[in-house]
Amino acid sequence: MVGLFLTGVAALDSEVSGKIGLRAVVYYFSTTIIAVILGIILVMTIKPGVSQEADHIDRTGTTPNVTTADTLLDLLRNMFPENLVQACFQQYKTKRKELEPVNVSTNTTAIPPLATTITTVIENITKEYKIVGEYSDGINVLGLIVFCVAFGLVIGKMGEKGRILLEFFDAMNDATMKLVHIIMCYMPFGILFLIAAKIIEVEDWEIFKKLGLYMVTVLSGLAIHATICLPLIFFIIVRKNPYTFTLGMAQALVTALMISSSSATLPVTFRCAEENNRIDKRITRFVLPVGATINMDGTALYEAVAAIFIAQLNDYPLNVGQIVTISITATVASIGAAGVPNAGLVTMVIVLTAVGLPANDVTLIVAVDWLLDRFRTMINVLGDAYGAGIVQKLSKRELERMDLISDVDVANPF
Ligand code: ASP
Repeated sequence: MVGLFLTGVAALDSEVSGKIGLRAVVYYFSTTIIAVILGIILVMTIKPGVSQEADHIDRTGTTPNVTTADTLLDLLRNMFPENLVQACFQQYKTKRKELEPVNVSTNTTAIPPLATTITTVIENITKEYKIVGEYSDGINVLGLIVFCVAFGLVIGKMGEKGRILLEFFDAMNDATMKLVHIIMCYMPFGILFLIAAKIIEVEDWEIFKKLGLYMVTVLSGLAIHATICLPLIFFIIVRKNPYTFTLGMAQALVTALMISSSSATLPVTFRCAEENNRIDKRITRFVLPVGATINMDGTALYEAVAAIFIAQLNDYPLNVGQIVTISITATVASIGAAGVPNAGLVTMVIVLTAVGLPANDVTLIVAVDWLLDRFRTMINVLGDAYGAGIVQKLSKRELERMDLISDVDVANPF
């Protein structure tokens, strides 16, 4: 895949490849964010994890005095950790606000009543509340992500010197993926026992109804994204029938559904995009391999829905700040997920730990993941293909100018 990407880049002039790359990245990010927002709206509306009889439960929060503004500020503080090692174990959390005695001057005779009131208000604003923050257990995922992005950018700019580090981290990544792969081979046994334990503990069989509703939420989100959001964006930019385009990708979509891997589907994705939808090879070879690695709308939507579903199951109240955190981490987790079966389930831990949910609770959704994985992989592949069509349309002028459109039907380009 890397080889294909390199040859794709090599076939293009560096100025053109930069422009194409930028367009592709803008497309990847915007459609992933749309998918995440769609998932969040659906899961908050359908509420698959909320018990009917639990509606009376006070959901105002386990940390009642912590406001949304506090959580948003925590988000910012966590993005820039003071200590990188500490960030691997702990994250900053505003715990509560403590009341301090208000020292309003008692010498009211010297101050007129209105001035006294103003002084009291100012004293109250500045003195009454004291925000108490502390480090709590849980990896500071956001801080580590921000550091990695900055570090990666710097390494990228270092040229030859940075190559050693790049190769080192690449090898580390490969080794970790191999370890994960070995663990995944044993996963069915582990899951069997985890689920058995959960079933024995089950007092409330409503959990199965909730899981069913959760699946309906994810599947309807994926369906809306594939039939409305992506086609609409495609139509606005390309001005061609998006459903004919989807039909052209049918073979790749069926393959994705069968094998749950966007990377393994890549050869079929290339063929459908190039032969059926007539996208220029230099665009597909450049845009599709990167898309298969970082553009996973289906995975992002699923991660956001799953995290909020788990929070609902635990009666864990989420405020706006935490929902923003879920959106960011679901996007990053989908970028970080490899295009292989169940990769989204592994990166799900990032989203859960970022908002303080138990990472172990992934087991609650493992049982149905084999099915959801197939459908989200289909949407991941469809998103990549639409991306290639859109980038080709936007890059038509540069490609024509550089006389690079050789294979495309110029009379009918996307
Ligand atoms: N199986 C998906 C893919 O290959 C990744 C995931 O688990 O969401 O695109």
